[in-house]
Amino acid sequence: MRRSYNIPLSGLEARITGVLLCVVGALQAAEPADAIWSARYLITEDAQHRVIENGAVAVKDGRILAVGTRTQINARYTPKQRLDRPEAILAPGLINTHTHAAMSLFRGIADDLRLQDWLEKFIFPAEAKNVTADFVRWGTRLGCLEMLLGGTTTFTDMYYFEDVVAEASKEAGMRGVLGETIIGFPVADNKTPADALVYTERFLQRFAGDPLIVAAVAPHALYTNSDETLKACRALANKHKAPLIIHLSETKKENDDELAKRHTTPTKTLDTLGVWNGRSIAAHAVWVGEADMAILKQRGVGIGHCPSSNMKLASGVAPVTRMLELDLPVGLGPDGPAGSNNDFNLFEEMDLAAKLAKVTTGNPQALPASAALEMATIRGARALGMEKEIGSLEPGKRADMIMVRIDRPNAQPLYDAVSQMVYALKASDVRDVMVDGKPVVRDAKILTLNEAQILAKAAEYRARISASLR
Ligand SMILES: [Zn+2]
Repeated sequence: MRRSYNIPLSGLEARITGVLLCVVGALQAAEPADAIWSARYLITEDAQHRVIENGAVAVKDGRILAVGTRTQINARYTPKQRLDRPEAILAPGLINTHTHAAMSLFRGIADDLRLQDWLEKFIFPAEAKNVTADFVRWGTRLGCLEMLLGGTTTFTDMYYFEDVVAEASKEAGMRGVLGETIIGFPVADNKTPADALVYTERFLQRFAGDPLIVAAVAPHALYTNSDETLKACRALANKHKAPLIIHLSETKKENDDELAKRHTTPTKTLDTLGVWNGRSIAAHAVWVGEADMAILKQRGVGIGHCPSSNMKLASGVAPVTRMLELDLPVGLGPDGPAGSNNDFNLFEEMDLAAKLAKVTTGNPQALPASAALEMATIRGARALGMEKEIGSLEPGKRADMIMVRIDRPNAQPLYDAVSQMVYALKASDVRDVMVDGKPVVRDAKILTLNEAQILAKAAEYRARISASLR
């Protein structure tokens, strides 16, 4: 505070006035914050989709206190720590709505195959021989490492030993919506779907109220589970107010089989079974028609669109443009790293979602950059039923945010920060990441995990897995 006085003050008066001014100044700038992060552009993904030049976010106790210009935020808050990046975009942490993190240890094990061949000839046998709690722990650590370094702050996962997935996610400081895969044949940790349901209930109880983990119920798919198991999954999810995660109409074969068996679609069958009666997240939804989308809309089903996976496995093209017209909560997912993608790069998924929609509709406006970024952030949060907590940078929300550098050749010049995020920036441009108010990546280095040890373990597993398949 600066003021000029016309009346000359005595020495004592001047000292007293000076002290008072300091106290007033300190009071005005004294609201404490744990951290302030500021950047050249702040993408909020709030209801107005504001992009604030020279923007800043103040954080306290894991939540966002305020969002505004750097000048406004600096005037009001005194942070314990601050990070100013005049050559970066500050954006909400990216949200992965469908993946299998631990499969990172199978990365590239068998490429260029159709889903059924890839699953039945390679993945299921490789899993039968190799998946243990230790495998899942190291695979999830590797997955979380790649995801955090690439700006993903929340992931939605279904695999085996999911309690270990949750432990590894918490260790990484990453947010997870996690469910133990329930499937109609014996797997590494559960011999029957009934065993998997018992496991899941313990899992739901163990992680109830956890600040980072949302425990879910995850029947693999309609075609790999009995009707009774699917109904039991829904009942268990509703008993614990948990979401249900499932693969839906990923391939044409899944739909053809259901048509032959029950003369209807997987979406309709699952509706008839009551599976959509509660919070649900359906991955893929490639082969869904108007009647199916009407059901998904009516039931509020979140959708995990996986463009890389659908392209790589030649599964088809999900009608995402139509889903957006219907305002369905559709997010993005990289799916599996083992052959259906093979990475966890949400920058790539944004880019591909936009371009795949354009090339298949013949309309360059079918899925604009703004819609792609929305799918990776606030619309993805809606898909998970977590839009009140994450997905945008707004006061009261959990402080999940990323700094993306814009001082490299692929980022300059910059006319539109949102366009740059989707079409020009890369996961490798992510410089800093905060989850739940805690920095987990600083200057492109992970703070929570032992990177060298994880990479050494990945090499060790590669040798072991290769030998097991000979
Ligand atoms: Zn999947």
